[in-house]
Amino acid sequence: MKTKFVFITGGVVSSLGKGITTASLGVLLKAHKYKVDVLKFDPYLNVDPGTMNPYQHGEVFVTDDGSETDLDLGHYERYLNQNMSKKNNITQGKIYESVLYKERYGEYLGKTVQVVPHVTNEIKKSVFKISRKKDIVITEIGGTIGDIESLPFLEAIRQIRLDVGKENVAYIHITLLPYIKAAEEIKTKPTQHSVMKLREIGIEPDIIVCRTEKNVGREVKEKISLFCNVEVDSVILEPDVGDCVYKVPLILKEQNLDKILLRKLKLKQRKCDISNWAKLVEKFETMENKITIAIAGKYTQLKDAYKSILEALIHAGIHNEVGVNIRYVNVEEKDFYEKLKDVSGIIVPGGFGERGVEGKIDIIKYARENKVPFLGICLGMQCAVIEFARNVCRLKGANSTEFDSRTQYPVIDLMEDQKMVKYKGGTMRLGMYLCKIKKGTLANKIYRTNKIYERHRHRYEVNHKFIPIIEKNGLLVSGRHPFGNLAEIVELSSRYDHPFFIAVQFHPEFRSRFEVPHPIFYNLVKVAKKFKISLK
Ligand code: GLN
Repeated sequence: MKTKFVFITGGVVSSLGKGITTASLGVLLKAHKYKVDVLKFDPYLNVDPGTMNPYQHGEVFVTDDGSETDLDLGHYERYLNQNMSKKNNITQGKIYESVLYKERYGEYLGKTVQVVPHVTNEIKKSVFKISRKKDIVITEIGGTIGDIESLPFLEAIRQIRLDVGKENVAYIHITLLPYIKAAEEIKTKPTQHSVMKLREIGIEPDIIVCRTEKNVGREVKEKISLFCNVEVDSVILEPDVGDCVYKVPLILKEQNLDKILLRKLKLKQRKCDISNWAKLVEKFETMENKITIAIAGKYTQLKDAYKSILEALIHAGIHNEVGVNIRYVNVEEKDFYEKLKDVSGIIVPGGFGERGVEGKIDIIKYARENKVPFLGICLGMQCAVIEFARNVCRLKGANSTEFDSRTQYPVIDLMEDQKMVKYKGGTMRLGMYLCKIKKGTLANKIYRTNKIYERHRHRYEVNHKFIPIIEKNGLLVSGRHPFGNLAEIVELSSRYDHPFFIAVQFHPEFRSRFEVPHPIFYNLVKVAKKFKISLK
């Protein structure tokens, strides 16, 4: 079968949840038993988002193959229950990097290198590359129609229809229908303008998905149909879903987006069964009990910074049948004890740089001493080791050399070969690594196996020299990467009688899926559900 291409653009404003709509469409097409893949184009000039801070970009999502990607790839993985790789996220920076490399190499000798055709050809190549052995490739173009940056991408996707034939390509445009209070009306004008802009570029949308605050009537669909030149049924309304973004596939299916699209692409409809999905959504919406889990980090004003952790907790909650409230605790503020008083669990997430580290260490001490269920992730794990070294092993001033290069007790340090690294982009321990788990440990109980693979994104490691003293005092290294014997998981030994105290050097949140929660988050929530606060 010839691969079909679906291109998703956004209009009017950013932050319309294009990623979730794209992922939801993927769920529906996959349920029709098609082999689906998803590609995200990002118009910025960074080669990958790895060098941007979370305020700029939100979370950096890491794939199995160690690429640092846009957080939308997290949505794709969580919804489609399918691994993404570096091929699934192409930035404009990556495209230019490759064009300029070829230019220097002499591949275009004698020619003037131009946006059209050289940059656009490179873009097209990345779409075709991913299409091998796939029935349908959905490509989401980042940014908003009208932006200067996304023009080469739009030009490329316009050309693709010409290259592969009309019946093999569909364009979906996602817009916003704002509600104007004074007029008590939903306005379609911005959508009309956005479609006009798209047409100027030569792209005529086949389907328009309208994000709305409220449910609107059929007359709005009819108006958009008339002014934007799409059939009424091809105008899909996607009202806000509140907390439960996993409802979107159900909303789109109700309006037959899957069938309409398959018809346009001349593909057969098959039995599309998403009842398991619907059951989980129903569970989410009817769960009564709630527990509160604190996320103690420094990017607490920006929800997207901890996106995958948040989602992993939602998944774990649904499968444990308990709602999970998230409480962000800013580790740079002094009053955090007040905020931790009534929580059933604490997560200290990853991060870079010294700011907030001492706060994280204090919070971990609190969780350890008061037996509050605790999960440390990456920097959170390194802080747990520092805390234990200082307060239990009595190694005064123990620290990571990332924050104190002259500490007497560098319990967290760079590996020898990393000390030479000069370029910052893509030089960390990235992606999937094997971890061997010790029998009889909490980690072993959680994973029910002694061999796991998890994703990494960090430079520093637990310093071997200090492992004996740390273990002797009761913080066990229960998971190790066999090559170089790197510490991957630490946990309090049973002598401390702590209900759940575990910290991991990797990022388990990247592997949690809506239908398959991650065992660490699942077990944290399970213990937290039973947890009764007993403060010391
Ligand atoms: N800054 C730490 C390191 O580089 C932790 C990184 C992280 O939490 N992702 O090792």
